[in-house]
This record gives sequence, C-alpha cells and structure tokens, in this order.
Amino acid sequence: MMPYAGAIHLPSLLTPTGNATLPPHLFYVQEDIQTMADVQCVTCGQAGEAITDPLFMGRLEAEVKSKVCQPCWKKWEGMRVMVINEYQVNLGEESGRELVKKQMKAFLKLGEQADTSKIEQNFRPQA
Ligand SMILES: [Zn+2]
Repeated sequence: MMPYAGAIHLPSLLTPTGNATLPPHLFYVQEDIQTMADVQCVTCGQAGEAITDPLFMGRLEAEVKSKVCQPCWKKWEGMRVMVINEYQVNLGEESGRELVKKQMKAFLKLGEQADTSKIEQNFRPQA
C-alpha cells in the first residue's frame, strides 16, 4: 500500500513546545502591519516608515520614534559615528553623552539647537 504523501497532518504543524509553525509568509504579513504605522517625520518633513528597532534611549526614545522616520534615523546613526570621532567624545562620560544627544537633536530637528557647522563641513555623504 502506497503511503499517502499529500496529506499534511495537523500535529506536524506544531513544534515540541506546542507553538504552531506558520508558513514564513504569514510572519511577513505581521511585520508589514507593524511597519505600516508611518510617522510624520520632523527631520525630512515627510511621512515615513516608523522606527521599529529599540533605541535604548530612555525618555527620548518615545519622542524620537514618534517624530523621526526610519531612513532619517539611519542617517543619524552614520552621523553619530562622525560626531563621536570629530569631537573625540568619550561616551563613558556624562558630558560626552550629552554632546552626542545635543547633536542628535539638532540633526533630527527635535527642537534643540546646536552648533553643527563643524560636522557639516566634514560631512561626506556616502555614494
Ligand atoms: Zn525622515
């Protein structure tokens, strides 16, 4: 007697922990729903994809996430490296972290002004 190969037995959809293993595309659908929440970005002035990654920024995190789109945040992440190098920031010091935060707010246009001329002079956008 030939084994009936076409059948998918329901128990085979369950992992040993009892979680259903859904086909991958179902997970993507869920992610799409999450990222569809656009923000009106204050940095670029357009509605854009919201930041979904955790930023570990404490109180500022909610503000950044509600005002800044993902692409602008990615730009800042590149910029942050430059800021740290340019000002020789010691992130182990409170003053160093404050400086980076100030530059971040200025770059993202979060309301606080800071002198960014030094950075802008040396900024070379990646091709
Ligand atoms: Zn933006």
